[in-house]
Amino acid sequence: MSAPGPEQPVLTIQGLVKAFAGHLSLGRTSVLRGLDLEVRRGEVYGFIGANGAGKTTTIKIVTGLVTADAGQVTLLGQPATRPAARRRLGYLPEQPNFYGYLTGREFLRFQARLAGVPPGERGAAVERLLSEVGMASRADRPIRKCSKGMLQRLGIAQALLGGPELLILDEPMSGLDPAGRRDVRDLILAQRERGTTVFFSSHILSDAEVLCDRVGILESGRLALEGTLDEVLGRRSPSWEVTALGATPAGWNGAEGWQVTARRGDRLLIRVEGDEALARLLERLRQQGATLHSVTPHRHTLEERFLDVVGRGTEAT
Ligand code: ATP
Repeated sequence: MSAPGPEQPVLTIQGLVKAFAGHLSLGRTSVLRGLDLEVRRGEVYGFIGANGAGKTTTIKIVTGLVTADAGQVTLLGQPATRPAARRRLGYLPEQPNFYGYLTGREFLRFQARLAGVPPGERGAAVERLLSEVGMASRADRPIRKCSKGMLQRLGIAQALLGGPELLILDEPMSGLDPAGRRDVRDLILAQRERGTTVFFSSHILSDAEVLCDRVGILESGRLALEGTLDEVLGRRSPSWEVTALGATPAGWNGAEGWQVTARRGDRLLIRVEGDEALARLLERLRQQGATLHSVTPHRHTLEERFLDVVGRGTEAT
C-alpha cells in the first residue's frame, strides 16, 4: 500500500458530476457540474456552501455511499472506490444514527469491531477515545439520554477509530450551542496538531474562519472560490475604519475612497478603502480641525466573501 508523499494530495476530486432524478422522475436535477478540489496533507479544509449546494452529496461520493455520474476521486493516492483507501479515512455523517439503548462505551466497542480494530486492542482504543472527546465520565449513559453535543463527541470518537489519515466531517458544528461548537473546534484543532488531515463541510462561516487552513466555496455545482483564508478574504487590499469627532462630511460622496457608515452626534464612523485614501482622509480631517479617535484595519469576513460569491452566482443564473 503506497503512503502519499508530502507533496501528494490526500484527496483529489476531478470533474465530479452528479444529478438526481427529479420529483416524479421528471428530468434530473444537476447538483455537481464538474467539481474540482484538492485537499493537502496536514491541512484543515473547509468545504463551504449554502443549504442544498451539494456538500453532503460530494462527501457521500468520496466515502462511497453515492455513485458519481462522472469524474474521479483519488483518496490517499488510490481510487476512492478501493476499500483499502477507504479504510484509512474516518467519517462523521451529517446525521449519524445511533442505537439508543447502547451506552457510549458499548457503541464505540461495537464500532471498533466493525472498524477491524484487533480484539486485544479494542478496550484500550475505546477508553483513549472516550477521554480524548471528553466522554469518559459519561460513557455508561444510554445514548438515547445523551445531548446533541455528547452525540457529536461520540460520532467524532467513532470517526477516529483506527487512527485515520483523513478525517471527513459533514457539518460537525451544526445544531450545537456555542460551548459545544467550541469543543468540536478544539477537537478538530487537536487532530490537526497530530498531523491528521481534516476535511469538513459547514455553513457556519465563523467556525470555518477560525479553523481552516484553506476553504473552498461550492456554488452552482463547482468551486466558485478556493484558497487560504488570506487569499479568499483578499487581505491584500486593506480597508480601514476611522472614528473622528467634529468632522464636516458635507460634500463627501464616496468618490474620495471613503464613506460615512454611521453617525452619532458629532462622532462619525468612516470606512476607507486603501492606504492612499486613508492618507487623504487623515489630511482632510486635520484641515477641518477634527479629532481623530481611532483608525482600525477592517478585516473582510468569510461571510462577506461568501455572500459576494453566492450573490454573484445567483445573478448569473
Ligand atoms: P445542507 O447544507 O442543507 O446539508 P448540502 O450542501 O449538503 O446541503 P446536499 O445534501 O448534497 O446539499 O443536497 C444537494 C441537492 O441534492 C439538494 O437539492 C438535495 O435535495 C438533492 N439530493 C440529495 N440527495 C438526493 C437524493 N438521494 N435524491 C434526490 N435528490 C437528492
